[in-house]
Amino acid sequence: MFLIHLTCTSCGLHHDWKHLQNLCTACQRPLAATYDLEKIRRALTPEHLTSRREKSLWRFREVLPLPPSTEPVSLGEGGTPLLRAGRFGNKRGIENLWIKDESQNPTQTFKARGMSVAVSMAKYLGATKLAVPSAGNAGGALAAYAARAGLEAHIFMPRDTPRANIIECRELGAHVTLIDGLITDCGAEIARRKQAESWFEMSTLKEPYRLEGKKTLGYELAEQLDWQLPDAILYPTGGGTGLIGMWKAFDEMETLGWIGPKRPRMFSVQASGCAPIVHAFENGETFASEFPKAQTVASGLRVPKAIGDFLMLKILRESHGGAVTVDDEQMIRMARELGSTEGLFVSPEGGACFAALTSLIQAKQIASHELVVIFNTGSGVKYLDCYDEATS
Ligand SMILES: *Cc1c(COP(=O)(O)O)cnc(C)c1O
Ligand SMILES: [Zn+2]
Repeated sequence: MFLIHLTCTSCGLHHDWKHLQNLCTACQRPLAATYDLEKIRRALTPEHLTSRREKSLWRFREVLPLPPSTEPVSLGEGGTPLLRAGRFGNKRGIENLWIKDESQNPTQTFKARGMSVAVSMAKYLGATKLAVPSAGNAGGALAAYAARAGLEAHIFMPRDTPRANIIECRELGAHVTLIDGLITDCGAEIARRKQAESWFEMSTLKEPYRLEGKKTLGYELAEQLDWQLPDAILYPTGGGTGLIGMWKAFDEMETLGWIGPKRPRMFSVQASGCAPIVHAFENGETFASEFPKAQTVASGLRVPKAIGDFLMLKILRESHGGAVTVDDEQMIRMARELGSTEGLFVSPEGGACFAALTSLIQAKQIASHELVVIFNTGSGVKYLDCYDEATS
């Protein structure tokens, strides 16, 4: 295995990966995995990858944690298609528009990526009871991977979480608690009880390996584009794990000699009812303040305060990207248009990115010849209530 230690993303302090870790013990900020990239560079090349039969994200085993002798907790996550959106793109004068369709993951969202890696490591390091606050899809993914690993899942969700998520968690054998409040209130409840209950907390970026799972989005994208990166990426942003993970993957791949220094412009897409990153970006702030009265049908974007806010803001600025809000009605409308032109029933979070594309083109922040990748992070099937309501 090539994992060396965990490094604090803020103060740089090293932590031992052989113990279960949450935040940095010195500054309470997120930890990230550090690998011996020079050694990986000698052990693995893009040509090796081409001949691998493994299609899941575990095909990138060398840049993931978990000793090689340990079987990952897997349901076949990752390896999702990068689909051309020719008809939708043409209508808006974008010749080279692609969709990374993450709805084809186990549990129908990209939360599966992070949970496969995080549950694999938690099990390996001896955790038996896993807890997570969830706006919906992280809960479903934890429930699935915990069941597969033979571990307990304790999931805290806002009472108004989409019904599909609540039923999914219960059917997958998780202990579900509904909270009158937001995901931040769910997190507070876990923090209060975790010590007494011996729960290991699996909140995104409060645990170092969901980031590693999401990082594979960046590896897959580079591989699917023949080791070129797009000009722009539109990412529906909640906790920001995918955004931060992809950026980490790009840096690792450059050190490995797989890609050059060019980076895509990264755009965060948020709901107008919950846009802490957009506000902080526009105001030139380093951290984002908690967004008051967060409200949106895109439950994955209903994160009023993210612990990785400073990392996201840094990436958006370094990449010369930006941050855009979309209102709920636009998301649903765009999701419908995309469905009828491209044949994908996308989540409202996915729909939000297609709406944001339209405004970025109008604002001349994206040009017609550019290669643009949009993430459809989940399936519309998990949001039947909100599509149903929008029809009637
Ligand atoms: C969680 C989630 C998001 C946000 O992802 P982050 O990496 O936490 O920003 C977007 N879309 C869907 C469908 C989600 O479940
Ligand atoms: Zn620190």
